Amino acid sequence: MDDPALHILNSVFGYPAFRDQQQRIITRLIAGHDAVVLMPTGGGKSLCYQIPAIVRPGTGIVISPLIALMQNQVAALLQLGVRAAFLNSTQDAATAQTIEQQLQRGELDLLYVAPERLMTPRFLTLLDRSAIALFAIDEAHCVSQWGHDFRPEYIQLSVLHQRYPQVPRIALTATADGPTRQEIMKQLALHNAELFVSGFDRPNICYRIAQNHDKAREALLRFIQTDHDNEAGIVYCLSRNKVDQTATWLQGQGFTALPYHAGLSAEVRQQHQDRFLKEDGVIIVATIAFGMGIDKPDVRFVAHLNLPKSIEAYYQETGRAGRDGRPADAWMMYGLQDVILLKQMMAASEADAAHKRVEHHKLESMLGFAELTGCRRQALLAYFSDHLDHPCGNCDNCLSPVATWDATVVAQKALSCVHRTEQRFGVNYVIDVLLKHATPRIVDNRHDQLSVYGIGAELDASQWRSVFRQLIARGFLTVDIQGHGNLCLTEQCRPLLRGEQTLWLRHDTKPAAVARKDRTAQPAIKPAAKPETNTLWEALRACRKRLASELGLPPYVIFHDATLMQMCEQRPTTRAHFAQLSGVGKTKLERYADVFLEVIKQHYETA
Ligand code: ADP
Ligand code: ZN
Repeated sequence: MDDPALHILNSVFGYPAFRDQQQRIITRLIAGHDAVVLMPTGGGKSLCYQIPAIVRPGTGIVISPLIALMQNQVAALLQLGVRAAFLNSTQDAATAQTIEQQLQRGELDLLYVAPERLMTPRFLTLLDRSAIALFAIDEAHCVSQWGHDFRPEYIQLSVLHQRYPQVPRIALTATADGPTRQEIMKQLALHNAELFVSGFDRPNICYRIAQNHDKAREALLRFIQTDHDNEAGIVYCLSRNKVDQTATWLQGQGFTALPYHAGLSAEVRQQHQDRFLKEDGVIIVATIAFGMGIDKPDVRFVAHLNLPKSIEAYYQETGRAGRDGRPADAWMMYGLQDVILLKQMMAASEADAAHKRVEHHKLESMLGFAELTGCRRQALLAYFSDHLDHPCGNCDNCLSPVATWDATVVAQKALSCVHRTEQRFGVNYVIDVLLKHATPRIVDNRHDQLSVYGIGAELDASQWRSVFRQLIARGFLTVDIQGHGNLCLTEQCRPLLRGEQTLWLRHDTKPAAVARKDRTAQPAIKPAAKPETNTLWEALRACRKRLASELGLPPYVIFHDATLMQMCEQRPTTRAHFAQLSGVGKTKLERYADVFLEVIKQHYETA
């Protein structure tokens, strides 16, 4: 075995082979050149800098924006026997000093630091005196001012190039549309970097979106009970209030559901995050404040109870499910209220006009995606300029094709009613007019005299809401700029009103009605087939949990589910066999083989 990178992959990480682009990226870095890496979550970005950092002389400096992520990555590396450390604000001065000394003496393979720390004169001086293997800039999209994770400190990172031109750099991200890619290369002065773009597809994630907002909570409950009992998941809500309510409600239903949002103290947030990482089957209910830097591999579902602001955000948030490559769900439920609220929030924001235009456009794309009747994966990938030849077979629209109906006449009625009421009213008012509800306001405004009064009896109020939602989503109607929520017609309406265009709308479905792809094809996380295997699985999990809590670490840092699954399937009885399992390197073999072999042996004896 002459390839040093492959040797490290086998002996330290315990993996038999590189994944698609990993080897080319690693080779380029070892040779001292720069790289920009776009790879989906779970694709295996970390190895791309960890292995070169181990192979090259000196320490690899990893710039990472989140403390939780650093700590977990370092904990996982230490379990593999790699000399890794982090420097951040949670440490006392003495610890920090010890690590700084280790760095100068060349005793570290990898050092993780936050960007603001890196840029301090003290740290730069320290770097001047140390041997540096490479710089890895993780979450590189934080450099983009248009993105939702913008961090001003990232802009300054181009200093690295000026100060250490001979040290290779690698920038990595899971989210980057065309403009963001350009910005990463420009802002970080990565002019000579090779760009490595992996496909964005996350084939193990099943996408499901539904539009019945009234019963969202009950639908969520059914979804978790049916598909994810006792599994880890994240539920995203738009507001803190809704987070608290939803968490409390789920607790009342018997789940371990913990809230997470910026209104909670740092201590409580830390505690909830810890439990999510370290216990089995915890559900986090969160605003978008939660998630970045969480690299828990066995999150089995991500549920949205509101519409995200953009497809990028949706992709990133849902991407936190199923990093380990096993089947996972992205489930969403949203309604008309979301659309109106988001539009009003955007209208009211302080951003300049150019910014608002971009945000608006992103929201429209997200809406279009949510209302789609074709394959969601194809559309999602197309948004990132990626391509999928055929419908995926693992999204709601593929699994149960959407029924559509000719809504031309109904849409004409809706638009006329908006027009006749002078574009001065919101959805509920317009629906009242259509349904002949003589509310005091309608009578006062003499709208009961209009020709459109009562012309909408063929649909009920909730069906009308569905129609209006889709008309807004497709750009026939906008919600006003002043933020009163009144509907306005757009240019696009003309052909429809003139009868020159037919319009097909979707019948709204409940996501519970959409069964997930038959999991027998791809075994689910629990080896459900044989009860005997099941008890072994539980015994292995219990063993892992015991070891993890003794060390104060998340269980997956000991072994991933995938490795435990292999133990279940192969039932190794010798160390030599155990060493063959994917995820078992030298250090873990030494530390854990005997304990787990004993569990397997006992299981045989009692079985
Ligand atoms: P990312 O940072 O891109 O989201 P990670 O680096 O966390 O992904 O890797 C995702 C998972 O895949 C990790 O559990 C990692 O150990 C595993 N992995 C990465 N590369 C390989 C490989 N070549 N073979 C097997 N597993 C791998
Ligand atoms: Zn599909």
